[in-house]
Amino acid sequence: MDFSVGKHENKAVIEVMIKDPSYIVWIMNQSNKSKFHEKVTLFAAHRIEVFNKIPFQRKCNFGGCENTIDCCVLLKTESHWLCDTCLQSMRDEFGRYSVVNTYMGAVNYITCLFDSPKARGENSMLLVRELARAKGLPKRATLFDISKFFSYVEPVKPKLYEKFFADE
Ligand SMILES: [Zn+2]
Repeated sequence: MDFSVGKHENKAVIEVMIKDPSYIVWIMNQSNKSKFHEKVTLFAAHRIEVFNKIPFQRKCNFGGCENTIDCCVLLKTESHWLCDTCLQSMRDEFGRYSVVNTYMGAVNYITCLFDSPKARGENSMLLVRELARAKGLPKRATLFDISKFFSYVEPVKPKLYEKFFADE
């Protein structure tokens, strides 16, 4: 699906989801949407679900930890990509912090932090991109990479009886 109107005209919605996430969320939050924006909202909502389901690949690396990360921990001036275990052990030292591990979580965090639309736009792009990279999207992602990223399918868990027979 491509944008047929607006500042990202002719660009793929999935590309804008990575490169200008605050624009996508702005459309989704409009109360009186055009038919087209209704369609974009449905499309993006589904892709956001997919985005959140894609497992993290990045390693925690905190004091030699080799777990896969679970979240991004944002402090006043720095960010850490940590597994839950390391986050628990650092809680007291961090003091005030925010945890981001979803698409909307990232955009909302930035929206609370900055007032100007420009700063919101740039910083939500940086955080969403970093989140996507932690989930395996290449650094200079092409539209092909992005579409591959969003075509992630959750592995189906084997049913109980299948497991039972597989064990024999
Ligand atoms: Zn860890």
